[in-house]
Amino acid sequence: MPRRWVRVESVRLRFAAAHMATFRGDCEPLHGHNYELRVEAHGELTEDSWVQNFGLLKAIAREICEELDHRFLLQRGSRILQIVEHEDQWEVWFGVRPHYWLPKADVLALPVDNTTSERLAEWICGRLRGRLDGEGVANVQRLRVGVEEMPGQSGWYEEDER
Ligand SMILES: [Zn+2]
Repeated sequence: MPRRWVRVESVRLRFAAAHMATFRGDCEPLHGHNYELRVEAHGELTEDSWVQNFGLLKAIAREICEELDHRFLLQRGSRILQIVEHEDQWEVWFGVRPHYWLPKADVLALPVDNTTSERLAEWICGRLRGRLDGEGVANVQRLRVGVEEMPGQSGWYEEDER
């Protein structure tokens, strides 16, 4: 069966964010990336031959980029980092290293175990799907989301087909 899809990616689908990913029980130093987002929507054509209107897909993707932009991305479900939520701050530390005190306004606490590109792509994909459902989009059977940390280095998430 033939497959059809649309893809959006552009200079306006970017966000700059900081994180500390963990790897094999260790933790990276605090650093940031200029991330780029790529979104593919796979599905059936509508009566007027669209899989998905580019404008809506870009608008939703851009909103999600704005949510992530200029934030520290915190893996709220980490099994490695010690994380304590205070009234106005997050306290984050690893082992004997110094504690970070991060103002809540600068942090996006994500329900993920790690802030790898793969997990960010998965979280973004869930947000996109929720928004498309809210818009009544029914013909998109599968979303694929790619999060590029730096040129040539990206993690992807693909939904199961509906
Ligand atoms: Zn990184």
